[in-house]
Amino acid sequence: LNSACEALLSLASPGSLVISPYYRSAPMGDVEQPDYVNAVAGFHTRLPPIELLDALQHIENQQGRLRALRWGPRTLDLDLLLYDDQHIDIPRLVVPHYGMRERSFVLVPLSDIAPELILPDNTPLSSLINKSLKAELVLAQASTVK
Ligand code: AMP
Repeated sequence: LNSACEALLSLASPGSLVISPYYRSAPMGDVEQPDYVNAVAGFHTRLPPIELLDALQHIENQQGRLRALRWGPRTLDLDLLLYDDQHIDIPRLVVPHYGMRERSFVLVPLSDIAPELILPDNTPLSSLINKSLKAELVLAQASTVK
C-alpha cells in the first residue's frame, strides 16, 4: 500500500496528494482470507478519467496483482471512487464507484481527507457516516508517503 501511494505521486499534480490513515477491515464475502488494509487518496490530476483508470491498473499490474477468486484475496486493488462531481457509466468505468456508499472502509477514510464533501447526487458525505460505521474499522497506521 505504501508503494501504491508512492506511485500515485506520479499521477498527482505537485503538492496535491492527500492520503487518509490506513484502516484494517474484515473481508467481504465468504472466502477465508486475512483482513484487508484500506485507505483513500485524493489528488488533482491532468489525466482524464479513462487515462487515470489505465494508470491505476498499470500500478496494480506493476505490483504483481494476483487474484484467483472473485471476492478472494488480492495483492492490491485500486478503485476510482470519484472524479470531480462527474457521473460516468461506460463498460470499463462506473463513477461514483458502485459500492462506495455502503462500505465503511471507503466512507470513513474518505471523510478523513474530505469531511465537507458533497457527493455528485448532492448527498453530504457526513450524512452517511455514523458511530457504528466507524466501529467496523480498526485504525492500522499512517501512510508513510507524505
Ligand atoms: P476490481 O478489480 O474488482 O475493482 O474490478 C476491476 C474492473 O472494474 C476493471 O475491469 C475496471 O474496468 C472496472 N471498473 C468499473 N468502474 C471502476 C472504478 N470506478 N474503479 C476501478 N475499476 C472500475
